[in-house]
This record gives sequence, structure tokens and C-alpha cells, in this order.
Amino acid sequence: MQDIFSLSLNALGIMLEDAGFQKFRAKQIYHWLYVRYVEDFEAMDNLPKDLKTYLNQTFTSTSAQICKEEKSCDGSVKYLFQTQDNLSYEAVFLKMKDDKFTLCLSSQVGCKVGCSFCLTAKGGFMRNLSAGEIVYQVLAIKKQQGIPHNKAINIVYMGMGEPLDNLENVTKAIKILAELDGLSISTRRQTISTSGIAPKIKKLGALNLGVQLAISLHAVDDKLRTELMPINKAYNIQAIIDEVVQFPIDNRKRVMFEYLMIDGLNDGLDSAKKLVVLLNKLKAKVNLIYFNPHEGSIYKRPSAEKMEAFREFLLKKGLLCTIRESKGLDISAACGQLRERAITQDEDTQHDNKQKEIQWAY
Ligand code: SF4
Repeated sequence: MQDIFSLSLNALGIMLEDAGFQKFRAKQIYHWLYVRYVEDFEAMDNLPKDLKTYLNQTFTSTSAQICKEEKSCDGSVKYLFQTQDNLSYEAVFLKMKDDKFTLCLSSQVGCKVGCSFCLTAKGGFMRNLSAGEIVYQVLAIKKQQGIPHNKAINIVYMGMGEPLDNLENVTKAIKILAELDGLSISTRRQTISTSGIAPKIKKLGALNLGVQLAISLHAVDDKLRTELMPINKAYNIQAIIDEVVQFPIDNRKRVMFEYLMIDGLNDGLDSAKKLVVLLNKLKAKVNLIYFNPHEGSIYKRPSAEKMEAFREFLLKKGLLCTIRESKGLDISAACGQLRERAITQDEDTQHDNKQKEIQWAY
């Protein structure tokens, strides 16, 4: 059975034609799936019976399911999805200011990149998500939250996994999400966040999809960045900057540099000065993120005063800078946390209900 959410409108139309049906039926099916949020082929009442039979025999619309959710008092919700091969991955629904919604999606089950501050990295890498498993995160959450089809939402590929390590499926998902007859989420509203795999930034740029780019920088010198993100050994800061300079972005947009502030490590004004120099020639903005310590973590959360002083310095030097809104702090909203908790609870049940507490990382 093929996952229907992995198919572009055109690919679905071609499959239908090859099977002897009219191509326009693909638009009707897309409308049911993505506009009316109906996944049961039998309920698609403008389709002929023989087409419904073909759809039931050929496609599945249940390649992944929401199996757990955690609600935050600020309205954010973290969802745990379960795949047919019994793996799990997360997505987060974030309620932003002014009634805006952002969905943070996973691109892989686990991650190979191995950042030292990240809980997902600790679980190792299982496999890439398919385009359908990525797309379904959006559809399932929109449906669950009752978000009307025409409400604009933003997508960030910032959940579990390194999206550029799964470029083929992620680009396929981006295009499916952007289909005007489907979810119609413009590529300009979709942001790929990467740990900085330089050659794949180049590859993504060459595809000219119109997506936004975010770089997880987190340090201004290679020594510290390698300690935090071992991938820096392969692609250092300068290699990333060289690719960002070439990356095609909308005139009105900027490349986002994510900067995880860790107490005493990268939160001083000396780092802020270096950051200004580093990003001097780029159309960039900086997003400062508080590090949230977890049990056993060697890193600490910086003070609000230090965060503010860092931000003020960048702003004075003409570098756009925001401090990331802390969303879902009461629901382990950072990447890998709900999955880790679910796995832990499952293991605990199997081991005489011995309770383990895991505190959540980044
Ligand atoms: S922070 Fe992102 S890139 Fe780094 S290990 Fe975690 S999931 Fe992978």
C-alpha cells in the first residue's frame, strides 16, 4: 500500500490516469484530504464507487497516527506520532502572538548530528521520515486543533532530525504542503533549520524553492562550536557563512541564525562582538534561545540580564535580534523530549513500573 500523503497532486493524477480514471479526480481527492480533512475514501461522496475501491486497494492514509499529546498552559501542544513500523516522532503546535500559529515538524526519527546539548541526539538515529509522514504532521495537527483550511500557518523544520540529511523527502513534503489545491502553505512560510551541512545548503539553494533558511549557529568560534556541535569539524563556521551568502532568499527576508545561550560559555559581550563581525555582510537576524538545563546537563541557563544585554548590543550594532518566546516550558516542548519520556515510561512499565524521571534538554 502506498502512502497517499507522499504524493504530489500531479503524481496522484498520473497514477489515476494510469489506472484508467480521469486526472481531475486527483483535485477532488486533494480537496477531501487537505481542505475538508477527510481521510476515509468511502466518505468522499463525489467519487465513483470503482475509484473508491481502487483507492482503498492502493493507498493508505494511516501511515502515522497521533499516539500522545501534551498541552501547555500557554496553548502550545506537543504531539507524539507513531509510525506503522512502531517508531515515534514529535511535532509541536505553537500559539504565537497575534493569534498566529507555527508548527515545528520533525524530519527524521532520531538524528545523526549528535549535538551535545540535544536529547534527540542521545537516542541515536533510526531512519528518515517519508514525505507523507512529514506532511501528515501538519494535516493531523490542523485537524486536531480545528484550524480552518484558509488560516495561514508557519512551518519550521526544527523538530527531531537534521532536515538537510533527508533533503529528498523534505523537499517533496515542502512542495506537497504548498500545493494550492491542498494545504496551500506557501514555501515562504516554510523554514528549514539546519545544523549547517554546507554542501546541502548549496543543494537546497539550487532547488530555488523559496523557503526560508535558519542556521543553528550557537557559537562564534570553531572550538566551542565543535564542542557543542561535532558536525562543525566537517563544516566550520566560515564554510557555512560562505554558503549562506549564496543562498537565494526573498528580498524582504533574512536568514535566521539561532543562538543557544549557555551560561558562562557563549553569553558574554565578547561573543556578541564576534557575532556582529561574523554576520556583518549578511542579511541576517539572530534568534537568542535560553538553554534549559536537564538532569545531568553540564550546561546552565543564562540570566535574563545577560540575554537582554546580548540582545541590546546586537541591536545597537544594527543586527536584528529577538529572544525566542519560551513556549511550552511546562510540556517538555524541546526536541526529543516527549519521545524520550514516552520511551522511558514504556521501559519503566516493562521493568516493574519502576519510575524514572527525565528532565528535558534544549
Ligand atoms: S539539535 Fe537538531 S541537529 Fe543537533 S542533534 Fe538535535 S535534532 Fe540533530
